[in-house]
Amino acid sequence: MITKKQLAIQLSKLVVFDKPKINLEQYSTPSEIAATILWDAYMKGDIKEKIIADLGAGTGILGIGALLLGAKKLYFIEKDEDAVSLLQNNLRMNCRTFNAFVSLSSVSDFNKNVDTIFQNPPFGTKEKHADKPFLEKAFSHSRVVYSFHKKSTDKFVRSIAADFGFQIAEVYDFNFPLRRTATFHKKKIERIEVRCYRMIKKSTK
Ligand code: SAH
Repeated sequence: MITKKQLAIQLSKLVVFDKPKINLEQYSTPSEIAATILWDAYMKGDIKEKIIADLGAGTGILGIGALLLGAKKLYFIEKDEDAVSLLQNNLRMNCRTFNAFVSLSSVSDFNKNVDTIFQNPPFGTKEKHADKPFLEKAFSHSRVVYSFHKKSTDKFVRSIAADFGFQIAEVYDFNFPLRRTATFHKKKIERIEVRCYRMIKKSTK
């Protein structure tokens, strides 16, 4: 079985976006952060033997990490062809792929019911609330959702979660190095406050 340290090392070797597209807010989750979330999810029983989707999968770090931790089946959904080709390459180099399904499509077309969803969607810095369709889709197709958002949009995330009958079971705060796509920012190391939420469907009993 892989350890947390091994997971972090393996994820750090994945290829990331070479020419990130600003309009799609392409930015790979830093590998240490991905490893932290995935390991915690694994410990909580949200990964092993589970059917999982990675929405807006980019170069695949979240879903590949889940496969390395024993997910039963993984759906990768990504609408950008260039990202999908990097993702396919990362998959082949790191995982057995018989249980990985990559779909070049928009998150709005996703229609599978799964056990757990991981997503680091666009934060809505280019297009306001670009993460809304991701949250709505995730809440409609899974009972456990891990989702990254800009901390400043906390109220917005909580209100959609409440609308869909989800409770926020855990929050994880990180400082992401500023998305490197934003080359017009002058300062060398700027950081952005990001919150990952673990949200679970409230029991209907
Ligand atoms: N989940 C990856 C990538 C995050 S960047 C990671 O954690 O590293 C967000 C990704 O969402 C980008 O790859 C972008 O192309 C993709 N994306 C944006 N809008 C989308 C949509 N409507 N449907 C599917 N993918 C989308």
